[in-house]
Amino acid sequence: MSKLSKPTLLIFIRPATILVLTLILFLSGMTYYLAEPVLGPVPGVLQKVRILIDPGHGGIDPGTGEKFELYEKDINLDLAFRLRVLLEEKGATVDLTRWSDQELSYLSPDLKAKRHPRDLWGRVFLAQAYDTAILVSLHVNSSRREAERGAIVFYAQGSEEGKALAGAVQAQLLNLQPYSRQQALPTSSMRVVNSTQCLTILVEIGFITNSDDRQQMQDVEYREQLAKAITQGIQDYLTQ
Ligand SMILES: [Zn+2]
Repeated sequence: MSKLSKPTLLIFIRPATILVLTLILFLSGMTYYLAEPVLGPVPGVLQKVRILIDPGHGGIDPGTGEKFELYEKDINLDLAFRLRVLLEEKGATVDLTRWSDQELSYLSPDLKAKRHPRDLWGRVFLAQAYDTAILVSLHVNSSRREAERGAIVFYAQGSEEGKALAGAVQAQLLNLQPYSRQQALPTSSMRVVNSTQCLTILVEIGFITNSDDRQQMQDVEYREQLAKAITQGIQDYLTQ
């Protein structure tokens, strides 16, 4: 038996066999490589567009929602991360005003102002420092009227481009929220919207004071849908 097993083993390790096996492995690897789709950002209207996402509030400023043991600042930040991934997938160059639970008053050039205005100035300062093309500020709304619900996109009063961008994003959000009757609104009193040089919108994703909106905004799948709607809206505006 031992005499037979030796030559059998030798057949399998002949140099020619190794060469054939290597060739098969190489060819199957090549086939797999060629069959794979090209990875990386797909060229398009968002390619290299500089977008700054501003998750509202942070640090000692929780925003709205404490009454419901929810913090607006956390919802804004989570949504900002999701939006960033989607916009980068489309080729945009994306930055965030904050990447953690912090407020930005230390960035304000005016140190004498109160903390809240300084925090807002910090965001305006970053929009300029980053040479931003589009700033998207993310917030959660609240109202005394419990029935009020749905996302609202704000833009700077008098800005035609702002109106077009806000309208495109609002349209996508209305697709996601067909029950909503909200429309994009101009504003002249929102520091981040009215003080930046770049094209700016502020998205209030829904009302924390409405139980349906509140439930939705706690659902990570729904936040992903919101991020997709905002991304699509920006893309629609750039395609117009
Ligand atoms: Zn807010």
